[in-house]
Amino acid sequence: MGNGSSLDSSKTIYLSIAGKTEKIVLSRLCGSRDIHDLIAQAAGVSRYSEITLRDSDGALIPISPSMAKNLPSSPYEVTTTTPSLANAGDGEAFKQVLSQVTEQFTQSPNMDMLRVFKVDEMKLDLTNRINVLERRLELEGLKAVEIEKCRRDISDIKYQILNSQKKVIDFNNMSALSDERKISLKRDVPLYPKYTLSQETVNYLKQPTFDIWDWEPNEMLSLLEHMYHELGLVTEFNINPITLKRWLLCVQENYRNNPFHNFRHCFCVTQMMYGMIHLCKLWEKMSREDLGVLLTSCICHDLDHPGYNNTYQINARTELAIRYNDISPLENHHCAVAFKILSNPECNIFANTDKEVYKRIRAAMTLLILASDMARHGEIMDCFKAKIELGFDYQDKEYLETLKMVLIKCCDISNEVRPMEVSDPWVDCLLEEYFNQSDREKMEGLPVAPFMDREKVTKPTAQIGFIKFVLIPMFETVAQLFPIIDKTMVEPLRIARDRYEHMKETSVPNTSAKKDE
Ligand code: 5GP
Ligand code: MN
Repeated sequence: MGNGSSLDSSKTIYLSIAGKTEKIVLSRLCGSRDIHDLIAQAAGVSRYSEITLRDSDGALIPISPSMAKNLPSSPYEVTTTTPSLANAGDGEAFKQVLSQVTEQFTQSPNMDMLRVFKVDEMKLDLTNRINVLERRLELEGLKAVEIEKCRRDISDIKYQILNSQKKVIDFNNMSALSDERKISLKRDVPLYPKYTLSQETVNYLKQPTFDIWDWEPNEMLSLLEHMYHELGLVTEFNINPITLKRWLLCVQENYRNNPFHNFRHCFCVTQMMYGMIHLCKLWEKMSREDLGVLLTSCICHDLDHPGYNNTYQINARTELAIRYNDISPLENHHCAVAFKILSNPECNIFANTDKEVYKRIRAAMTLLILASDMARHGEIMDCFKAKIELGFDYQDKEYLETLKMVLIKCCDISNEVRPMEVSDPWVDCLLEEYFNQSDREKMEGLPVAPFMDREKVTKPTAQIGFIKFVLIPMFETVAQLFPIIDKTMVEPLRIARDRYEHMKETSVPNTSAKKDE
């Protein structure tokens, strides 16, 4: 599927299980335990079973990422033995560990930090076991009866994990980052239907002309999910497909229903990034990890946006401004919510990456989300232009970081790149949010920015300056590195600018700004 698949590097191993040949495909990131679990899955036995592999000469083969490839004609012979814990079946094994967890909570409500870590460890273990069950469900390799049993076990265990998590959070007396909302999952994956995307949709999704208004929230989730698969990110980060779905749901639930800063805006920004990745063939310039960072930062970049900008936060001395000392309070908050969500193992799409990789991803995403504060626009663009003048070096980490910052900035404010039918409603949404803020500022006796004031702004006046002095110069600079951007993104911006200028000339001054008149 698409260009991303050309980046794949996987290894196929053939197995002989009870006289039948099976194959498993190992991604570059599979660890020994993953391979063991895959073989157990293929053999239809518990992951707690002991597994032995022998080649055609009877020699033992170690189960490890460096195991030699083989051919269908000479599969490795699999033998399995079942240890006593697994005799009770996966569900029973989970319950045994679970009862240990619950016992810890009920026996000592004043547990010390050591106990908390122990509980975290157990939670992780339980989550890993659920993942194995869910993978088996995903692969649909289970009989109907088994599936039903697994489903019951999973929901049972999930309920208890959620409760145990709540207790840990209560114990630590941690307040949720969001002012009024808890970062939690209110519905689970089965409520998020599976869509089959047509080839036409899949191709269209890569274009900046994609009509983002055509899709229901659940469909947007599916499209985002598709992007992770198509770009090879599921393989790159060894993401459990169910975790991906659950993470997306949790992200969606942590966007508020603001006129502008809502989940559809998140989708727009991400879809534009997906479009730019394909238009500019970014996989030729950066790693797949970088592509993952770009896409994930877009998805998280406005999490839990309250609908009032940084200026309001600072002037009104809100909790967020106090917490972040007036330094990009919103962007710091979006980023903190993003990592709060990822801190839940059930929603952590990077759970299967090495510590070092996770550390790199976290640093890179933080850099990108913080770069989306428009107050830093001049500083970031100056840095980017200076690097282009020197001759852009894609091997240099700092150069790539600056490019990624500019790319997320481009996508964040890219509505006017889209066809008029798509971009036009966004201006109304933005103005509605601006007017909400300025009305509140007036009521609270705070300074009001003229560009937000319903007495002073019209659609064309809001857009002309923004397109001429922010959007066109930024996209023209990016086009110096990726010439295709000129035709696909700068040209639509020039058309939009001319349209708004025409609109301004032909409209009666300041009428569309005053709704009541
Ligand atoms: P965001 O808040 O979405 O992370 O940062 C982008 C900011 O750029 C928005 O809050 C908004 O102030 C501004 N912006 C984005 N798109 C447009 C647009 O089409 N017109 C105008 N005038 N401002 C925009
Ligand atoms: Mn945004």
